[in-house]
Amino acid sequence: MESQALFFRERAAEKACDPRVQKTLQHVRPLFVGKRKKGMQDLAELGMDFDKLQQSAQKIRDRVVKNLDVWLELFEAQAQATGAEVLWARDGAEVARLVVELAQENGVKKVVKSKSMLSEEADLNAALAAAGVESIETDLGEYIVQIAGEAPSHIIAPAVHKTKEEVADLFVQHHGLPRQNDITALAREARGVLRQHFLSADMGISGANFLVAETGSAVLVTNEGNGRMVTTLPRLHVVVAGIEKIIPNLEDLATLLRLLPRSATGQGISNYVSILTGRPPLEANASGVEGPQRMVFILVDNGRAGLLGTEFDSMLRCIRCGACMNHCPVYNSIGGHAYGWVYPGPMGSVLTPLYTSLKDAQDLPQATTGCNQCAAVCPVGIPLPELMRALRRRAVETGLRPWSERLAYKLWAWAATHPVFYRWGVRRAVRYLKWLAGGEEYIRVLGMAPGWTFGRDLKAPLGKSFQEMWADRKG
Ligand code: SF4
Repeated sequence: MESQALFFRERAAEKACDPRVQKTLQHVRPLFVGKRKKGMQDLAELGMDFDKLQQSAQKIRDRVVKNLDVWLELFEAQAQATGAEVLWARDGAEVARLVVELAQENGVKKVVKSKSMLSEEADLNAALAAAGVESIETDLGEYIVQIAGEAPSHIIAPAVHKTKEEVADLFVQHHGLPRQNDITALAREARGVLRQHFLSADMGISGANFLVAETGSAVLVTNEGNGRMVTTLPRLHVVVAGIEKIIPNLEDLATLLRLLPRSATGQGISNYVSILTGRPPLEANASGVEGPQRMVFILVDNGRAGLLGTEFDSMLRCIRCGACMNHCPVYNSIGGHAYGWVYPGPMGSVLTPLYTSLKDAQDLPQATTGCNQCAAVCPVGIPLPELMRALRRRAVETGLRPWSERLAYKLWAWAATHPVFYRWGVRRAVRYLKWLAGGEEYIRVLGMAPGWTFGRDLKAPLGKSFQEMWADRKG
């Protein structure tokens, strides 16, 4: 998927003023935040402590990230031992080439997909369409955005930006069936349409929430059941997953499963947890045992290996739960499409510059209020605000930010390390701001930085600095 992060400021401003986007966003925070809160209460009632589980999960992920090559080799050997094949892809283009080659080798005309963020990174649907292969997204949200010709706006709720009425219109247009106005009826209609695709597809493509090194298995955590159709009905199953998805063993999976659904949707466990290991022997297939005749893993780097051993390698812990964006005031003001690439919210503000280009995505790490909510809820303890700060520093150090901003920070740093000048400057500034308010309680337009007061008023200071007031009080 081509990154549009370069246009983040324009897109964010547009979404912030779009009443339709704002209306749908009103539901995101209460829905997901409330559900996670309830999930955490249930966890506590079961005698489990979020902080302790978070520390364990962090250790599991760090253990893998520190020796990723070793765990990947073990996974490859175990997967091959169970009859699966393992291919490696350096980037999205290589993923697309490998999948198209597999489709052509196997005479595939139709592909059904269950959510794989990596296939979004690789723009896989476009590559398959160019090769004459029909590909159908089968997660309901992904299916909706596919027929709408849009990108997902949330990593676990891709169509959260769509209203029920918009979905009903889309279904009438694409299914040619009588209009349904009720969500259950719409879901039933989509299920009926998708069922035909499951039965006629030659290849299933899925992602993986985890790859278990000890057993060579892919783990899928889903709520809709389509993942099982995609991975068992077509004769060829291809798993496209990032190299960082490895976990050592099934015991570690149990720990991570305590956190992933609760952090994502507040569920104690999702409706389906599938552990897919190899393919049945060919003679079993012939005698009617279910499962694909061929299972292929495509393990993808696409920028991940470049984070190893750097100050950003904690980002490889991410288990894609979406909690950081659900709690983010920036995401909740502009929605996922503003971010311009596959991953929105705080995790996207770190991943997009690292996986695509800091030069083009340099505004994303600026999109933070510094509230630290994202880090507090992250089930694997990723210090997202620190990583965003490190990216901002890198952008300044490499000369990517405008000279005026760099100069401003240099002056600020100088002033902050010269207390006499700093105190003098603050005294002048608070008097100026009081004057700017013109006797009112709020400043309506902030002289040199009008953007700050574009959508809100700024409380006017009293005309004295904190240190002056402190000295007065002591006196
Ligand atoms: S960064 Fe943390 S909270 Fe955000 S999606 Fe990844 S694991 Fe979840």
